[in-house]
Amino acid sequence: MKRALLALLTFCAVLTSCTQTYVVSTDDSTENGLNTSKATDGAQSEDGETNEDTQVQTDIQTEKEEPIVYTYEFKSDLSEYEKYMEPEDRDGYLILVNKNNPLPENYVPEGMVDVADTRDDGRDMQQMCLYASKALEAMLIEARANGCKKLSVTSAYRSYAYQYKLYNQYIDKEMSRHPSWSKEQAIAEVNTYSAIAGTSEHQTGLACDMHNLSSAKVEFADTPESAWLEDNCYKFGFILRYEEDKMDITGGIIYEPWHFRYVGRYHASRMHELDMCLEEYLDFLNKN
Ligand SMILES: [Zn+2]
Repeated sequence: MKRALLALLTFCAVLTSCTQTYVVSTDDSTENGLNTSKATDGAQSEDGETNEDTQVQTDIQTEKEEPIVYTYEFKSDLSEYEKYMEPEDRDGYLILVNKNNPLPENYVPEGMVDVADTRDDGRDMQQMCLYASKALEAMLIEARANGCKKLSVTSAYRSYAYQYKLYNQYIDKEMSRHPSWSKEQAIAEVNTYSAIAGTSEHQTGLACDMHNLSSAKVEFADTPESAWLEDNCYKFGFILRYEEDKMDITGGIIYEPWHFRYVGRYHASRMHELDMCLEEYLDFLNKN
């Protein structure tokens, strides 16, 4: 009897090990190849409460034998950029940042480099993580080869301190514009257009804003440049992060046709096929 039970357990273990496993956990377990780290330094949720138990980084490990390989043909020779568009660390760029998953104050991504296509109008060179920056460079080389000549990056990495300053400046502005408002009313208004410090994925060094207008406006969506980026960004490892029909899933963030996020080509291509935003996709990986 014992032997039969042991055999059954062994069979189940073998079955389990053959099944592809994707895990997003909210604890700090390292089971199933999952490594997580926590935000513990006063990260704030959108309602301003200190959240000391929020996971900020999830390294999903998908099976390396995954048969799907995405290859694309480009007009430009982008061979030197392939390793950045399709990173060897395939699952290393899926960090989720939103109002329920804030980054800690001291989170600064490692290895950031200048973004070659920073808008040339006297602003500081924008910075992103190496892989995101090089993949972006490739995307804009190909964009130019397809007639999109005037795209440039207006904003990339933003520090927690910068976001904090910006957010509070907006509150002051709303208060002086509406003298009868309480601070809570001003905050509610600001929350419709500005992320509270720690909840913007610009702090990851994997996101950027790019367009060809004087400032980021939804009218960008009507340009051929925007259409090209939306149709092609996944080939370079990027996703359009805030889509019009996903507002209820991304936490009420408005449609931002200018905001792109690097996740690497494999996951960007799968998200494109499945028509999923990052929140939906991570949930999907967790359940499949
Ligand atoms: Zn943005």
